[in-house]
Amino acid sequence: TVAFLNGEYLPLSEARISPMDRGFLFGDGIYEVIPTYAGKPVGLKGHLSRLASGLSAIEIDNPYDDAMWTSIVLQLATENAQHIESGNVGVYFHVSRGTDTKRYHAYPTGVTPTVFAFAFEMAAPQSNSRSSAKVYKVALEEDKRWQRCHIKSTSLLGNVMHFQSGVKAGVNETILFNEKGLITEASSCNVFMVKNGIIKTPPLNNELLPGITRHIALESFKRANLNVVEEWFSKESLLDADEVWLTSSSKEVSPVIEIDGHVIGEGAAGEVWERAIRAYHAYKFDA
Ligand code: PMP
Repeated sequence: TVAFLNGEYLPLSEARISPMDRGFLFGDGIYEVIPTYAGKPVGLKGHLSRLASGLSAIEIDNPYDDAMWTSIVLQLATENAQHIESGNVGVYFHVSRGTDTKRYHAYPTGVTPTVFAFAFEMAAPQSNSRSSAKVYKVALEEDKRWQRCHIKSTSLLGNVMHFQSGVKAGVNETILFNEKGLITEASSCNVFMVKNGIIKTPPLNNELLPGITRHIALESFKRANLNVVEEWFSKESLLDADEVWLTSSSKEVSPVIEIDGHVIGEGAAGEVWERAIRAYHAYKFDA
């Protein structure tokens, strides 16, 4: 597959960076994953603006303007179409602070950010119907990550460890709650719940990533006149919900049917979910 490294397109197998890169030594960088379907990106404006805010939060100058980033997304999606025949292509961007000559914690001056991008095959879009939905079983754990979860940092060890405890428990995600027992997000997704027809998702703060799918979902639900609020909820209300959903660029809006072995609602994709995913699909390319 074709990748992009510091201004050049090249085969992924030939891409090389220095072990002195601060992305490698410190996880000192910002990343994004942009979904594309048949060459059409979803939420591109949102992804580029979140990339810009993350870079600014850690004082790295954005190496490219939006037009350049856009051309990388489109080029990688097109160039890799022959390897990824489904046309479901994710584009990964990574900007690290760059390569230094020594290992020293302070931000160095005069280094050039390393920019890496590659394309990979993403999951197919989520189904539009309850009977064929891709559903998830998840674990539940106290959030042990850092206090800047709104920054899409490449330092993902906290997320990786939470995800891995789910894998050890035989499930595919881990939903997290803070020290007050309130749900923040999952290790790689945002979380929604439904109770008595009302859809809820936690409001944005430093404890969760401002997911682009979360944002598109909220907009699309409002357009479809679904009842939705941004509100904190406890792990007890989550377990007592009629429906629970995960959102992310690869999962879109996906039902959770079991949390720590506890069955949610009817143990299948719910009725509100079906309306929600239809609203999401109708709107996603316009976001
Ligand atoms: N939260 C975390 C911790 C994530 O890593 C992600 C991205 N996989 C999300 C939420 C969802 O974000 P998005 O909808 O922008 O993919």
